[in-house]
Amino acid sequence: MFVDHAEIELVAGDGGKGAISFRREKFVPKGGPDGGVGGKGGDIFARANVNLSTLMDFRYKRKYQAENGQPGGSGNRSGQSGTPLYIELPVGTVIREIGEDRVVADLDRDGRVVLLARGGKGGRGNESFKSPTRRAPRQAEEGQPGERLKVSLELKTLADVGLVGLPNVGKSTLLARVSAARPRIADYPFTTTTPNLGIISMPGYRSFVMADIPGLIEGAHEGKGMGVQFLRHIQRTKVLIYLLDISSGHPASDLEILRVEMKSFDDSLLDKTSMVVFNKIDLVAIRPLNGEDYGISETDVLFISAVTGENVDHLLERLSQVVFA
Ligand code: GDP
Ligand code: MG
Repeated sequence: MFVDHAEIELVAGDGGKGAISFRREKFVPKGGPDGGVGGKGGDIFARANVNLSTLMDFRYKRKYQAENGQPGGSGNRSGQSGTPLYIELPVGTVIREIGEDRVVADLDRDGRVVLLARGGKGGRGNESFKSPTRRAPRQAEEGQPGERLKVSLELKTLADVGLVGLPNVGKSTLLARVSAARPRIADYPFTTTTPNLGIISMPGYRSFVMADIPGLIEGAHEGKGMGVQFLRHIQRTKVLIYLLDISSGHPASDLEILRVEMKSFDDSLLDKTSMVVFNKIDLVAIRPLNGEDYGISETDVLFISAVTGENVDHLLERLSQVVFA
């Protein structure tokens, strides 16, 4: 399980000031006080949204502020309330107040709305201060400040796409080319190698997560055990990419090695949706490329170069079709 993490600051709206005002009417020499109450400051809510899958946006924008309430008016008019702010977060996000270590919200299902920071109350206008002995109070309140807090966001992320390949086939290079952001990855106690995680942004605000899983094969060859958690993670990816180096001289047997390793971890991994991707096509002169020329009969075979970017867009399109299906 990867942990996507961000810290943001929330500033709810301040309440509007109460008004100091007096009625001015024809034939009424001295009107009474009529200053209205200030509007309430905007609240900040979290809302769980099943269409989001990462906290990437929160690494760029860190401060979230709701609108202040408007001041009260004359004629006992209340100020307008500040518009509340809804922060859309992926389902599964846990929100904690920093320093307090208090869980503020656990967005465990789509559509859940939780109040994070309360807007300040509006101040009373001078109308509220009148009494038989004080007919013309020149007194009104300031609005109360909105709540401010710093929160951490934590999302346990499952990769949608797992990259499986022997050392040096270009897993890291591919991940670096296609991903817009590399979230921090939590300590990974299961293997001594850390998976790299990249977020791939597709048009239309959609994104998916790709993991380069060095521990899978490289660790296994060094006799490092695969943790159960790690395995579960791979099981839950939607697609596996078997990445091969076309210049290795024996890509078909490389693929066989990968398959055997996967099978030895868990038979059912072989049933998972997968794609065979040849990398480093910039190193070969022949075009068009065909899997059978390399002894591979799979239908879903793609040829790319992670270094030049050739055909990488095509790969991402194919992946989106599976991930967003
Ligand atoms: P990993 O071990 O699978 O993560 O492989 P790396 O991404 O570290 O790449 C290993 C080596 O292959 C590096 O020197 C890369 O520059 C090189 N490499 C990766 N992709 C390509 C490619 O498409 N074409 C060429 N010519 N070299 C590549
Ligand atoms: Mg690597």
